[in-house]
Amino acid sequence: MDERISTDASNGNEGEPTDPQRRRFIKGVGIAAATGVISLTAGQLLAEGAARASQGLDGKEDARLQYAMVIDLAKCDGCKKCTKACQKEHFLAEDQEWIKVYKVDDGISGEYNLPRPCMMCANPPCRNVCPTGATFVNSDGLTLINHDKCIGCRFCLAACPYSARTFTWKEPEHTPEELAHTYSPEMPLPHRRGVAEKCMFCVHRRKEGKLPACVEGCPMGAIYFGDAAENAVTNSKGQTLPLRETLADNAAYRLRDHLGTGPSVFYLPQRGRRA
Ligand code: SF4
Ligand code: SF4
Repeated sequence: MDERISTDASNGNEGEPTDPQRRRFIKGVGIAAATGVISLTAGQLLAEGAARASQGLDGKEDARLQYAMVIDLAKCDGCKKCTKACQKEHFLAEDQEWIKVYKVDDGISGEYNLPRPCMMCANPPCRNVCPTGATFVNSDGLTLINHDKCIGCRFCLAACPYSARTFTWKEPEHTPEELAHTYSPEMPLPHRRGVAEKCMFCVHRRKEGKLPACVEGCPMGAIYFGDAAENAVTNSKGQTLPLRETLADNAAYRLRDHLGTGPSVFYLPQRGRRA
């Protein structure tokens, strides 16, 4: 089923669904798309990267890796194969979408598709509100969840400005393959009832030298992934782009950038690149 978002620039409320979490996110999309398409210069990106590296992630001052995802909205045709690939990789039920593809209509550019994974914020509000430390940032700068510590309070779901988290209300249906996994925050299987979950940039696949499942599953090559320190991102077609130059040259923006969350996901607009 299509998720349609109307982001009328005049009032930002037209066609909004009733779910309050989605409404918050949609407002963010409206702001970014209609008024706040924030162009990043290479200098700004470097400043962001430097700030992030200096945060002493997970107690380590030398966090080197700064993962970056770049989503080219001009290439996305809304097929949702990224969502399906993610669900397969993480044994998710059909209604659990860690990368969700929204239909956006910003009233300016016409309708387009906007895939939304976890933004892997440099300053993650979800981590900041978690009362038990279950949500943490690992030494690679990735925000993960330790389900052994999660008490199901859902503060993190309320705090995430991108509605990127899901909550497992019922005992999940398990498969033998899923049950065969030994739990770790980097591969949080088997799924549990009563805990928060979200996209984790497929940290387990990186150890095998693979791209995240959504990136690999995108037939359009719309999603690129890489290490900002290497200044390179790669898509499913094996195309590699220089990160800083690509962002600077194509009017890249981040969702709700004004909140200071420091997303690691960058969007290339579907039109008006070099405006
Ligand atoms: S698989 Fe690629 S083209 Fe299809 S919805 Fe996801 S990002 Fe868009
Ligand atoms: S997008 Fe949401 S879940 Fe992901 S790091 Fe940011 S606040 Fe946390």
